[in-house]
Amino acid sequence: MTTGKINVSVENIFPLIKKFLYSDHEIFLRELVSNGTDATLKLKHLISIGEAKVEYGNPVIEVKVDKEGKKIHIIDQGLGMTADEVEKYINQVAFSGAEEFLDKYKDSAKDSGIIGHFGLGFYSAFMVAEKVEIITKSYKDEPAAHWTCDGSPEFTLEPADKTSRGTEIILHIAEDSLEFLDDSKISGLLNKYNKFMPIPIKFGTRTETLPKPEDAPEDYVNETIEVDNIINNPNPAWTKQPSELSDEDYKNFYRELYPMQFEEPLFNIHLNVDYPFNLTGILYFPKLGNDMQIQKDKIQLYQNQVYVTDNVEGIVPEFLTMLKGVIDSPDIPLNVSRSGLQADGAVKKISNYITRKVADKLKSLFNENRADFEAKWNDIKIVLEYGMLSEDKFYEKAGAFVLYPTVDDKYFTLDELKEKLKENQTDKDGKLVVLYAGNKDAQHSYIEAAKEKGYEVLLLDSPIISHLIQKIENDNKDLTFVRVDSDHIDNLIKKDENTISKLSEEEKATLKTSLEAYIPKAYSVQLEAMDSQAAPFIITQPEFMRRMKEMSQTGGGGMFGMGNMPEMYNLVVNTNSDLASSILNTEDKTHQEHLVKQALDLAKLSQNLLKGEALTAFVKRSFEMIK
Ligand code: ADP
Repeated sequence: MTTGKINVSVENIFPLIKKFLYSDHEIFLRELVSNGTDATLKLKHLISIGEAKVEYGNPVIEVKVDKEGKKIHIIDQGLGMTADEVEKYINQVAFSGAEEFLDKYKDSAKDSGIIGHFGLGFYSAFMVAEKVEIITKSYKDEPAAHWTCDGSPEFTLEPADKTSRGTEIILHIAEDSLEFLDDSKISGLLNKYNKFMPIPIKFGTRTETLPKPEDAPEDYVNETIEVDNIINNPNPAWTKQPSELSDEDYKNFYRELYPMQFEEPLFNIHLNVDYPFNLTGILYFPKLGNDMQIQKDKIQLYQNQVYVTDNVEGIVPEFLTMLKGVIDSPDIPLNVSRSGLQADGAVKKISNYITRKVADKLKSLFNENRADFEAKWNDIKIVLEYGMLSEDKFYEKAGAFVLYPTVDDKYFTLDELKEKLKENQTDKDGKLVVLYAGNKDAQHSYIEAAKEKGYEVLLLDSPIISHLIQKIENDNKDLTFVRVDSDHIDNLIKKDENTISKLSEEEKATLKTSLEAYIPKAYSVQLEAMDSQAAPFIITQPEFMRRMKEMSQTGGGGMFGMGNMPEMYNLVVNTNSDLASSILNTEDKTHQEHLVKQALDLAKLSQNLLKGEALTAFVKRSFEMIK
C-alpha cells in the first residue's frame, strides 16, 4: 500500500470548496456521471482507432444508493485507470484542477451568477462525501487500483481485486448531506442533469410486463420481469440531422423536454453549426399571446449533452428567452460571470448566429405558407416585435416577415401596407397615415367611423407597440401612425371640406362658451362642422401625449425623463348635429347643463373613460330621464 501527500498549496481545500459552492452541492453527481461518460467515450474512441483491443459491449453507467452503508456508488465500464494514472490524473490533475477552479471562482464569486460551475470535476465529490474511494481497472493489462482519500491532502493507494474494466467511485456521504441518500433525490438529479447524456445511465430496476402470447390460455397471468431502469435518452433529437427528423419527432422531443406542458409548440428551429463555433439545438416557438413574462428561463443550456442551466441570459438574445428548447455548445465558457460572458467574443457570435437563424426560419415560414404564418401571427408577434426593438440585426431582417394585421384580419407587410395607403390615406403633408386601433372593443365607434370613410385600420395591441411605432416612424419618414381615437385623425377623417357649418361664427362662440362652462379643465373644446349624422360629441386624445404615456408605462419612462404625465383630451363637438343646436337654443341653464353633461358622459363612455362615481351618477341620471 502506498500512502502519500498530494501536493497542493492549501492544507485542506475541502472546506473552502464546500463554502464557496454551498448552494450547488448537487452538481457532484453530474460531474461524476460526466467523468464516467467521458471514460466510456474515450474507450470507444481508442477501440475505433485500434489503440485498445477490447470488447466495447453495451456499456452503461450505474448509480447505486446504499442507504444503510450511507454510500453512493457510480460505476462505469470505461477505459479505467492504472495505479500510475490514478496518481497522475487524480492526485495531480483533479486536485490542481480543483485548486485552480477555486482561484478563479473566488474572484468572480462576488459577481454572482457564474453559469455552470463546471471544471471542478472529480473533486466536487467532497462537497457531499467525507471519504471517497476509487476502485478502477484499466483496459490495459495491469492490476486494479484502490485509492482512498478523506479530502485532506493525504491519500492511500493500494492494489485491488477488481477484474472488470472500468471505474467505481464510492462516496461515503457526510452527515450534513444525508439527503442525497434518498432515491427520489438522486433520480431527480439524474433527470435534471443527465437526461440526455450520451451513455445509458442505470438507476435501479423497474418491472416490465411481458406481452401476452398469441396462444395464451384463458387463465393467463401476465408475466413480469425486472429490467434495468435507464433514466436517460442517449440520442436526443438535437444531436440528429434535421433531415432525419419528422414534425412528429420534433413534437415528441418537445414533450420529452417539457412533460408538464400540454400545449403544442407552433414551430421549431433546428440549430446546427460547427464553424467558427460549435452549437446544436432546437428552439421552439410556444404560443405566447400578449404575455411577455411567463416563458422566461425555459431554454436549457447543455454542453455535450450535459445539462448546465436554464438561465441562458447573455447567451441567447433577450427577446428569444421567451422561446423554449435546448442549445448545446461546448464553446460557452462556464466559469465566468454573466457580465464576463457578454463581453466574450465567441458568445457574441453565438448570440448573433441564433438571431440570424431565427430570422431566416421566420422568413422561410412566411414564404412557404403565408396563410399559416398569418394564423400564427398573434401568438408569435410579441417575440418578433420585441426583437425588432432590441436587436438591430433582427430589425434589419424583419421587413421580410413582420406583419401588420387590420381589424378585419387582413395582414400586410410594411411594404404592402405602404402601397395600400398610397391609395387614399395621406395627410396634408403627403405622409402616409397608418390608422390603428389598440383595442377593437374600446375603440369600436372610432374604427367604424374610419372604415366608413374607406380607411384601412390596423389592430396593434401588443403591450410594447407604442415603442415599436416610434421606431418605425423614425426609420420611415414617409409614415405617420395615428390611433383612431387620436386628435391627429382630424387630418384625415374630418377633412370633409364640403361640409358647411350650419352655425354662424357668433353662434359658434356662444356654443363654445356654454360648453366650456360645464366641461372639466382636462378637455379642450373643439368645434367641427361634420356630417349631421356623425356623433355629436367625440373625445380624442393627442397622439403624441398618449403614446409617450404608454411608453413610460411599459419601460422607457426614465429614458424620456417624464414622470407621470397628465391626462389630456379633446372634446370634438359636431356643430351640425341636432344636439349642438339644442344646447345652443336652450334657455333653461339647468337643462343646458344637463344636456352637456349627459352628452359628455356618453362620449366618455364610448372611449371607456367613464368610471367609478361618474359612471354611477351617469346611470342614475339616465334612469331619471327615461322614467
Ligand atoms: P476533468 O474531467 O475535467 O479532466 P476531473 O477532476 O473530473 O477533471 O478528472 C481528472 C481526470 O481523472 C480526468 O481527466 C480523467 O483522466 C480521470 N478520471 C476521472 N474520472 C474518471 C473515470 N471515471 N474513469 C477514468 N478516468 C477518470
